[in-house]
Amino acid sequence: MNILVLGSGGREHALAWAIKQNPKCDRLLVAPGNAGMAAIADCVAIDPSNASAVLACVEENAIDFVVIGPEAPLAAGVADRLREAGVLCFGPSAAAARLEASKSFTKEICDACAAPTAGYARFTDLDAAKAYVTEQGAPIVVKADGLAAGKGVIVAMSLQEALDGLEEIFGGAFGAAGTEVVIEEFMAGEEASLFVLSDGKSILAVGGAQDHKRVGDGDTGPNTGGMGAYSPAPVLTPEIEAQALREIVQPTIDEMARRGTPFQGVLYAGLMIENGRARLVEYNVRFGDPECQVLMLRMGAQALDLMLACAEGRLDQIRVTWADDHAMTVVMAAKGYPGSYEKGTEIRGLDALPETASQMVFHAGTAEKDGKIVATGGRVLNVTARGATLQEARERAYAMVDQIDWPEGFCRKDIGWRAL
Ligand code: ATP
Repeated sequence: MNILVLGSGGREHALAWAIKQNPKCDRLLVAPGNAGMAAIADCVAIDPSNASAVLACVEENAIDFVVIGPEAPLAAGVADRLREAGVLCFGPSAAAARLEASKSFTKEICDACAAPTAGYARFTDLDAAKAYVTEQGAPIVVKADGLAAGKGVIVAMSLQEALDGLEEIFGGAFGAAGTEVVIEEFMAGEEASLFVLSDGKSILAVGGAQDHKRVGDGDTGPNTGGMGAYSPAPVLTPEIEAQALREIVQPTIDEMARRGTPFQGVLYAGLMIENGRARLVEYNVRFGDPECQVLMLRMGAQALDLMLACAEGRLDQIRVTWADDHAMTVVMAAKGYPGSYEKGTEIRGLDALPETASQMVFHAGTAEKDGKIVATGGRVLNVTARGATLQEARERAYAMVDQIDWPEGFCRKDIGWRAL
């Protein structure tokens, strides 16, 4: 079959790589793609959030299946438009994507299905929100309701921080995403992500992972899109995973179906684990980046079969064979990221690295220029490896990092420290 992957990051390179391993895949297209994807697929220069352009590309190239990587096309309703046109696709409708796009909507769903999560209140008025925060005291968490690229959440350790956060959000720092505010009880514990596929009715957990959001070693410095990840996550024991599926994920899927907006795709549950129990922090409606990279390396070709089963509503008939192994990805970023950084610097040494089913360099912000690979973004490469243990996966990943010649890049040296 002919398959189109929408997106241009490391996540989409990993999805494209896994799909390409499957003999069902004849032609593979990516839109818009990057230099890494260009080596295994045809890149199409269209905006993945432009449904008309995506539909035209599907028709022109006789595409049978579309896999949507990032959240923006989902929130923009690209999956809806494809399904209306009778095109098979992996990814939720805009209505179901509200589980990520609106924090207050997710809270409403949690209330309706009694899923464990932080207690909360919603406000559209600054003074009322300030009065509530003052009454509750710190620590407390203040969130802009809509999508704010990870910047709309203030985990306030003091009352002043919370009040300043409210001023900022209501002051318009996040535009329309900040017209409503969700104020949450602070949850202590360790965070982990659980990835669950759904066809709208059935669910299938495809693994847990943990990532590192801070730019510096020891989890210091500013937040980033993620500097590395590993799977499985030791904190997510089989018992806690079962509890999260039973009390949080399946009830959510059931509630979405009951409302006539079934969720089809991958539901990424951000969990806070304390005293052997998980509570929901947030949902995302797509794979995490860089968590997807470790999941795809472990899942390989069967990722395509699973995504197809979601799209065709037959997830209950499919089995996964999980390798009992570990995977880690180390993000290489341009020096200066997440602040300003140089673009166009050359990366050498990638050709010499063998790409196999147990080690891959997934590309994020790269392009090919005059036969050279150059950095075009902040997060640039995802150096990913598998091993029998997490330690082995880590040693392999860092051995690959050492062979990459890119003086203008950097990475964290301690990915996985919590688990090791
Ligand atoms: P955005 O919507 O701006 O893109 P996001 O979706 O990443 O942000 P959340 O995941 O809800 O936002 O919150 C970001 C981080 O803040 C979480 O990963 C977690 O570390 C912390 N956090 C969020 N809510 C709570 C809470 N109730 N208690 C403790 N920490 C929290």
